[in-house]
Amino acid sequence: MIEFDDVTLTYPDGASRVTAVDSVSLTVEPGTVTCLTGPSGSGKSSLLALAATLIRPDSGRVAIAGSDATRMSGAQASELRRRSIGIVFQQANLIASLTALEQLQVMNELGAPGSRDSRGAATARATHLLEAVGLADQAGRRPHQLSGGQRQRVNVARALMNRPRVLLVDEPTSALDQDRGAQIIEIVLELTASEGTSTLLVTHDAHHFARMDRVLRMVDGVLLAADANSDRNV
Ligand code: ADP
Ligand code: MG
Repeated sequence: MIEFDDVTLTYPDGASRVTAVDSVSLTVEPGTVTCLTGPSGSGKSSLLALAATLIRPDSGRVAIAGSDATRMSGAQASELRRRSIGIVFQQANLIASLTALEQLQVMNELGAPGSRDSRGAATARATHLLEAVGLADQAGRRPHQLSGGQRQRVNVARALMNRPRVLLVDEPTSALDQDRGAQIIEIVLELTASEGTSTLLVTHDAHHFARMDRVLRMVDGVLLAADANSDRNV
């Protein structure tokens, strides 16, 4: 579960401050995808960064999988990120020297030794996820041997490796053509259902909106129902 309770975030802007996220309250339930849309600069990536515990709000509460991220130390927040949060950004940022399978396996080697799965269990999980994103036959390929769409699929699979409760996906299709972009959205929808993640997905592709559990629009940091005629706060 992702819970935002009256969350406000500002950044310094010369002598004053700019409000990137303005009194946002939001709940994303397990097994559902909430789509965030809205113009550039409206605060969508800032909202994801708050959910990722990468930044702290000025006020309000952000809870991830039941833990209040606004009251944690930096070390607790990074442990929460490692265990409970999967993050997919626009660029896949894969490691050039590793195969698709190894990109996933390495996730199991990060963090405290006691929190790791056995190597065998990690390999089974990685293989299962590569199958789920349609890359079973590409497991031995390195990033330069994969297309942009395939790299983004590895990126989604890697984000799910440690069984996160929360999946945060920021404009995953912006560097892809329409068909490959649609495949990524499809994979995010399927894996949200099968893994039971609470998923926040930023995308501008309106033709996917009907498939989402909910579509919200951000304008100037304020979260609105997506209906263009509605100015109702959510
Ligand atoms: P979006 O993802 O919808 O394009 P962002 O969350 O990136 O929006 O940005 C929201 C607002 O916050 C914009 O006015 C942007 O310029 C500002 N902003 C974003 N990141 C920073 C930062 N690190 N420092 C200062 N201002 C920022
Ligand atoms: Mg953004």
